[in-house]
Amino acid sequence: MKIFGVIRKMKAVMGNPLRYYLFLDKDVLLLNTVFGREIIITHEGYSCCNCGKDVPLFRMGFCKKCFFESPYASETIIRPELSRAHLGEEERDLEVEKQIQLQPHVVYLSYTGDIKVGVTRKSNIPSRWVDQGATYATIIAETPNRYEAGLIEVTLKNHISDTTAWRKMLEDSGDSIPDFETALQRIEEYWPEESKAFKKDNLEVIRLQYPYSPPEKIIGLKLEKSPKISGVLSGIKGQYLNLDTGLLNLYAHEGYKISLEIN
Ligand SMILES: [Zn+2]
Repeated sequence: MKIFGVIRKMKAVMGNPLRYYLFLDKDVLLLNTVFGREIIITHEGYSCCNCGKDVPLFRMGFCKKCFFESPYASETIIRPELSRAHLGEEERDLEVEKQIQLQPHVVYLSYTGDIKVGVTRKSNIPSRWVDQGATYATIIAETPNRYEAGLIEVTLKNHISDTTAWRKMLEDSGDSIPDFETALQRIEEYWPEESKAFKKDNLEVIRLQYPYSPPEKIIGLKLEKSPKISGVLSGIKGQYLNLDTGLLNLYAHEGYKISLEIN
């Protein structure tokens, strides 16, 4: 079987383990059904996630022009505390920024080999956690917009990491249970006074179980370096395909045109 299309994030459906769907143009493939088989991914070109042009991608699936101009690649995507839409102030396109920022957001703790803090739109839960390969996660605050959530994160990240160490995440088998309570007690005194009203009283911890066991050696694969990647697919964690030749992060390859062959 051989199919063509542009790489987008895989969609996961909750379950034990999670089930991963790959969408390549009109084709949908439940990847769990091809575990144990050889797949061959060949880089055929690019398609910018915003303008669709076949030009080299700069960051986050955007070409350079779109990365610096599109409201979907604005700095507030990475740094929520810079959000201005709640003040009616435009950064790139106020209508789009209002849609993104003026909706319920959450601040969460997740476990990706270490405990980290993060912010996302409430509607993005649990897929945000799946994408980062978190095995456990819990919401610690709910806010009416992106800015308020960003303010909490920016304070707490001085005391707790806000990044995912991808290697550590891939080395983690999923057996270690994080102590979110203790982590929260540790940051209690740093919680911004004006944000305390958004704090959740009860922690509901979600567990995510991936069809994945860590390989002996973590090797990252990139289509930029090797335009043809092949290997036997044994599992998936986060947005990483676990091949017997290495791990391929599909999220980092959004916008790549590929052909996918399954033997
Ligand atoms: Zn573009």
